[in-house]
Amino acid sequence: MPVSGLPPYDPQNIFARILRGEIPCRKVHEDDHALAFHDINPQAPVHVLVIPKGAYVSAADFHATATDAEIAGFWRAVGQVARELGLEQPGHRLLANMGLAAGQEVPHFHVHIFGGRALGPMLTPGG
Ligand code: 5GP
Repeated sequence: MPVSGLPPYDPQNIFARILRGEIPCRKVHEDDHALAFHDINPQAPVHVLVIPKGAYVSAADFHATATDAEIAGFWRAVGQVARELGLEQPGHRLLANMGLAAGQEVPHFHVHIFGGRALGPMLTPGG
């Protein structure tokens, strides 16, 4: 059981299939540790997903069990993608949904990068 409490890694999850090239994506970056591609249902003018190449169910799983090289490589890729997309100015948002309470839909760790407009409050106010 991975540390997130989510089910064990499912090699048939959609991002695993994208990594294997079984499903197309609009790729923006790829290196040894990460793949970045446009979200299929964008929530902002720029909405890119960055995923590690390793099989990690969630943020908790990745941060507890990935190697230092994978973690460094992944987060450097997040920064590189934001920079290459021209999002450092005026800014952008990074978001990672972790587990059921956060509404994580795809059980392969991923970071969303949002940009291209003023992004408003971080969360919708609510109970
Ligand atoms: P989560 O809710 O797990 O944080 O985010 C999953 C994201 O993956 C969603 O924003 C959703 O639009 C995106 N997504 C789901 N399936 C696909 C797909 O087949 N291709 C791409 N490019 N994005 C996907």
